[in-house]
Amino acid sequence: MNLVKNLSLGFLLTILISISITGFISNHMIDKKFDQYLMDEHKTKALKFKSLVTELYNEEEGFSESDFSEIHRFAMLEDFYIQVLNNNGEKIIETDIMNIHHKKMMEFMMPDSGKMKLGEYIEESYELISNGESIGKIIIGYYGTANLTPGGVEFKTTLNRSFFISVFIALIIGLCISIIIAKKIATPLMKIIKISNEMRKGNLEARVNIKSNTKEIGELSNSINYLAETLQKEDKLRKRLTADMAHEIRTPLTNVKTHIEALIDGIFEPTKERFESFYEEIERLIKLVEKLRDIAKLEEANLHLSKTEYNLSKDIEKVIDSFKPMFKKKDAQIISLIDQEVYVILDRDKLKQIMYNLISNAYKFIEKKGKVEVSLKEEKENIVIEVKDDGIGISEHEIPYIFERFYRSDTSRSKKTGGTGIGLTITKALIDAHKGSIEVTSKRGQGSIFTVKIPK
Ligand code: ADP
Repeated sequence: MNLVKNLSLGFLLTILISISITGFISNHMIDKKFDQYLMDEHKTKALKFKSLVTELYNEEEGFSESDFSEIHRFAMLEDFYIQVLNNNGEKIIETDIMNIHHKKMMEFMMPDSGKMKLGEYIEESYELISNGESIGKIIIGYYGTANLTPGGVEFKTTLNRSFFISVFIALIIGLCISIIIAKKIATPLMKIIKISNEMRKGNLEARVNIKSNTKEIGELSNSINYLAETLQKEDKLRKRLTADMAHEIRTPLTNVKTHIEALIDGIFEPTKERFESFYEEIERLIKLVEKLRDIAKLEEANLHLSKTEYNLSKDIEKVIDSFKPMFKKKDAQIISLIDQEVYVILDRDKLKQIMYNLISNAYKFIEKKGKVEVSLKEEKENIVIEVKDDGIGISEHEIPYIFERFYRSDTSRSKKTGGTGIGLTITKALIDAHKGSIEVTSKRGQGSIFTVKIPK
């Protein structure tokens, strides 16, 4: 079953159940109250009748002829059966019982006449007291709701009918509302499904463009768009990666191949220098393959860290010192701005590698007489390391890619800095393993700042 049908049915069932429960309870309560009211009314009439009979009684003459007819008329009018007995138990008055049984029989013969049921036959007897003395007994018989007026019957039927009508109207309205709500939820979802299918077929340009008041749907479409962007970026990167890999591997191979061909053809002499140059090219290839293997290892889910407590300030100073001769050759400066005595519990070797990679990159991209500043600060929860250079910088559009494997900026390629585009990938993996972060701010021609934050 699709979502619209499912949701509509769900809403409808909820409406139906709630209306039925409230309707049933209120209908039942009103019905009960109404019956009670009728019974009370009837009883009041019976008592009134009793006092009327008492009033009519005359001490000397008892009941007169006109009293008899008055009592008969009243009994007939109100559907009562009346029996008046004197103190000796003799019947003085008795109305026609058939009058009220007749109605019951009619009901029995025509059960569906639409009128209200008459209920059980009840007989009540009261003592007749006049001037403080008992004058006999009165027995009043009637059917439970015998004196239900046509208005009363109408009221009860209307009540029942209006209950069913309101259920019906509520159901129709409920059905419309549930379809509208269900469609409102399902339509954007269908659009998202359509776009996802397009993406699956390879159209990574497709984007979900939905305006919905439902927060979750908005979030879902944002996530899908984000996913599309990521996939698109990965796709671009993958294409570039394949091209770069081919380039990185093919250049040394072609180099060696042309040289060997020249040797075979006797154009080149097989000198020691030539063989040394082959050796260098092959070594570069081996290094490349080794780095690739390193990355594969680094990216395995749980990079093993062996943490120890040590003085990080001292370690970074040592790395900086090891770079000083290189910088001197380039007439460049490396400046240390290290907070002293920063003790941490981290993987010492991996931290050294991070520092080494960042400083050697900075060195690679500064000009002669350039400057690199390395700082270490201790914050409340993190240690913050910054490597700042005044080198060539990175253009804005390249920043998102520099941590990807094999990525080298075009200037880096043209400068022949000799990198493989793997250093920062490894650096980031090491920082990630420490649950830290690395960020770059850079401007073309002005230099770059790499900021590393690692929880202590
Ligand atoms: P590589 O081995 O080529 O240096 P990395 O992964 O270390 O590879 O760096 C990737 C690319 O990021 C470099 O080719 C370069 O374009 C850019 N990059 C890294 N560090 C810097 C820096 N300090 N200044 C300018 N560009 C940099």
